[in-house]
Amino acid sequence: MTIFTCPVCGEKLDRLPKAYACKNGHSYDIAGEGYVHLLPPNRMHAKVPGDNKEMVASRRRFLESGGYRLFSDKLNELVRAYSGVKSPTILDAGCGEGYYTGRLCDDLLDHGFAPSVFGFDISKFAVKAAAKKYKQISFAVAGTFSIPVKSGAVDVAVDVFAPVAEKELNRVLKPGGHVILAVPGRRHLYGLKEILYDAPYENESIAADYEGFALTGRVPVATDLVISGSRMIEDLFAMTPYYYKTGESGAERLKRADTLETEIEFDFLIYEKVGEACRNAEN
Ligand SMILES: [Zn+2]
Repeated sequence: MTIFTCPVCGEKLDRLPKAYACKNGHSYDIAGEGYVHLLPPNRMHAKVPGDNKEMVASRRRFLESGGYRLFSDKLNELVRAYSGVKSPTILDAGCGEGYYTGRLCDDLLDHGFAPSVFGFDISKFAVKAAAKKYKQISFAVAGTFSIPVKSGAVDVAVDVFAPVAEKELNRVLKPGGHVILAVPGRRHLYGLKEILYDAPYENESIAADYEGFALTGRVPVATDLVISGSRMIEDLFAMTPYYYKTGESGAERLKRADTLETEIEFDFLIYEKVGEACRNAEN
């Protein structure tokens, strides 16, 4: 059963063989790869929002090289610990090309869970790549600030480096459900920034208070990473926010590097839903 809802009227969607449809006659085709587009055109701020095709390919090459595998492993462990039930409903908010979502689903199955796993991302190219590869997961193109998912349907939502829309996350969670948020740690990619910038700075430590949530845990995960080859270094660079912000000289210096040594560090923050966030946030 799907937890997706109609982005036009908010009614639940039924999954038909080739489309999702609501009772008000709104219908959304299921693409050949198996995903559904639930982002209404009037909410698309750019013509084709989110990561483009090349960025999605970079991201997939880098992640599948295993550079961030320890973060994926820790995420899996945390989701298992906070699932609460044997058949949890899991939502990956901002799933990208599905690396974390896919490994998470496999891990839950390997540990005897019977999960229902859903993922969405604003990038059509990312969702397409995800749906093509991870068939056991339901993917949608959708926006973080208006999640087309039923209220109170989700046991665990994960959000890896994606924007945090706390009211929407709160709404879709079951009472007592959890959000596992991955944010960059202080020294994340410091070695990369040393090449890009004359005066690199550390990331600020993030642990925000969110209305309707209690912060119940913080798990830092860090290691040193050595990346060889300019292709893989460029792939990592293309995944970062620095890709858009770096001046030409910094980007040139990085192009000349054929080995990159850097600290990498994720902070996992675990939030428990303790109440309803402001209700009139729904629009
Ligand atoms: Zn509808």
